[in-house]
Amino acid sequence: MIRLVPFMLGAHEALVGPVVACLERTFGERVEVRDPGFDPAAALDERRGQYDSRRFLRLLLDDAHDAPRVLGMTGVDLFIPVLTFVFGEAQLGGRAAVVSTFRLRSEPYGIVSPPERLLERAMKEALHELGHTHGLVHCDLADCVMRSSTYVEDIDAKPARFCVDCARGVAPPGAASA
Ligand SMILES: [Zn+2]
Ligand SMILES: [Zn+2]
Repeated sequence: MIRLVPFMLGAHEALVGPVVACLERTFGERVEVRDPGFDPAAALDERRGQYDSRRFLRLLLDDAHDAPRVLGMTGVDLFIPVLTFVFGEAQLGGRAAVVSTFRLRSEPYGIVSPPERLLERAMKEALHELGHTHGLVHCDLADCVMRSSTYVEDIDAKPARFCVDCARGVAPPGAASA
């Protein structure tokens, strides 16, 4: 079971349903959507005007202490101290991950892209960060969602699926392995 916690998504709330369907399809697990039991404002860094993704991971872990895996999905701008921004973050081999749609939009770059582009990007980021919680590191294959992404163009270039090797790493326990 994966718990998905949407918060401060604004107009991107509509992405939750399709992302849930994508995760259930890919991981073969039930996804339950829950409101956050924490105040997201606690992760705001007032100086940067951005939200600390590590603080969100801790808030999500405490909030979902009874869930085997938790994914936060937000519309606010995330950072980790050494980087300008991150699309998302996860505990490698842990329980918590968070993704943001903030940097997935094309509008800030003056580009008009079809609305489904944003959904595709959000799905890929959700799969990618949850892949990290399964212990997967970045994959060199172009045909794998675990390839690292610095720019949205990198996200667009990779598919919304795991390569054969990475898929084995996220298979539910008891799944037949080839
Ligand atoms: Zn990554
Ligand atoms: Zn891979």
